Amino acid sequence: MESSIRDKYEVVIGLEVHAQLKTKSKIFAPDGTEFGQEPNSETSPITLGMPGVLPVLNKEAVNMGILTGLALNCTIPSRCKFDRKQYFYPDLPKGYQISQYDEPICVGGYLNIKGKKIGITRAHLEEDAGKLVHAGADGIAGSSYSLVDLNRAGTPLLEIVSEPDMRSSDEARAYMEELRNIVRYIGVCDGNLEEGSMRCDANISVMPKGSDKFGTRAEIKNVNSFSALQRAIEYEIERQIEIVEEGGEVVQETRLWDDNSRETRSMRGKEDAHDYRYFPEPDLMPLEISREWVEDIRSKMPELPQQKRDRYQSLGLSEYDASVIVEQMGLALFFDKVLELGATPKIAVNFIMGEIAAYLKEEKLEITDTKLTPENLVELIALIEKNTISNNIGKQIIIDMMKDGTSAKEIVEKRGLSQITDESAIKEICEKVVAAHPNEVAAYKGGKVQLLGFFVGQVMKETKGRANPKAVNELIKEVLG
Ligand code: ADP
Ligand code: MG
Repeated sequence: MESSIRDKYEVVIGLEVHAQLKTKSKIFAPDGTEFGQEPNSETSPITLGMPGVLPVLNKEAVNMGILTGLALNCTIPSRCKFDRKQYFYPDLPKGYQISQYDEPICVGGYLNIKGKKIGITRAHLEEDAGKLVHAGADGIAGSSYSLVDLNRAGTPLLEIVSEPDMRSSDEARAYMEELRNIVRYIGVCDGNLEEGSMRCDANISVMPKGSDKFGTRAEIKNVNSFSALQRAIEYEIERQIEIVEEGGEVVQETRLWDDNSRETRSMRGKEDAHDYRYFPEPDLMPLEISREWVEDIRSKMPELPQQKRDRYQSLGLSEYDASVIVEQMGLALFFDKVLELGATPKIAVNFIMGEIAAYLKEEKLEITDTKLTPENLVELIALIEKNTISNNIGKQIIIDMMKDGTSAKEIVEKRGLSQITDESAIKEICEKVVAAHPNEVAAYKGGKVQLLGFFVGQVMKETKGRANPKAVNELIKEVLG
């Protein structure tokens, strides 16, 4: 699409994010929630919606809902309640979903995303539905039937609804990434988009620039990565602008993103709330949440991603390095342990962001999959700071430390890698190098001073990187005169 056409429009985006809460049991039933169990093995009569059963609210799900709300700057009202949302689908045995409608657990929060406040309308607790496995998929033979697995039915979800405050796919992605960081760091959700433990519906509309009346939105489902979210939004923006440019009207509907064909397809007309016939869940009492309860949870709030980034920056990390480390929770937690043990932050970061991160990426591993311990990294850093080994040697042995868990001291001793700091020994080698390169020496003396680097390199080669570079620099000058 020509940018001149696109520039005439303003994009409005609001996200509804479902986070699967990491409780051991379901939100209203004692069944387990572990992923990958035998199909339909976690299905008590409550989950199956048998007549006469009663839901019992899982307190841990409420705790996690409150914790998340506080992390998102929400108010936790002193009372919330549960409602039934009626609809029929084979993965929903009761014929209704227990959710929260007009009195959710969290209201009125916000997140700061790149200096802009994105409002959070509400967050409410609800139960997940089961899963349909369609024939033809995942090794299921045939083509004309579907299997129902109700293990997931009743898993607690927190649905976090944003205000329509985002104005680009970049902003939407940044918001989603920060939300994921938060739920992971506070330990309520593993934030895995690919596996569906965090899901996002994107509401998108367009309006002429300068207008204050939002256009009609379409809701896009089935985006399961950050890049898919961005692609889906970009596609949808263009689709809607084309409709408006041709004099048509965008219809309010739910559309599915297909990441293979890279387009959205209409799934169903969007129900208005009254179609669900919401009414208060008669089997659950409204929930009173005392201020003591809220404050107790607030006092246990772990460090949030933004606080972590600020702290890292105050230690001298760049904004970029700080945010890259925080994006990778395993690395950040490892870094924190290294800091606790007293390592110099800047050297630790260079290792973590350099050799360590590159190795993990290459091998598709998490830091916890390797044998590197924080203690061993701290010891390596200490060896460098004491000039026992050079930084370069450190970079060479860190990979072995990750692979086999050996300590830096062991490797250095075994391979004789300790730095040559003895000045007379280095000077001897400098003299040897100078004697071996008469032409370069002549050129150097004739004014080609950049050859200094060449001589230093030769000395380092001669010593297999073990000479102290600072000493080499000084001594080679001296020898060259
Ligand atoms: P529903 O369940 O019907 O989708 P919700 O209130 O749960 O309704 O979610 C509505 C979402 O759509 C919110 O994230 C809101 O910010 C967003 N939204 C509302 N109006 C618009 C609009 N005109 N354009 C884009 N997003 C919108
Ligand atoms: Mg919606």
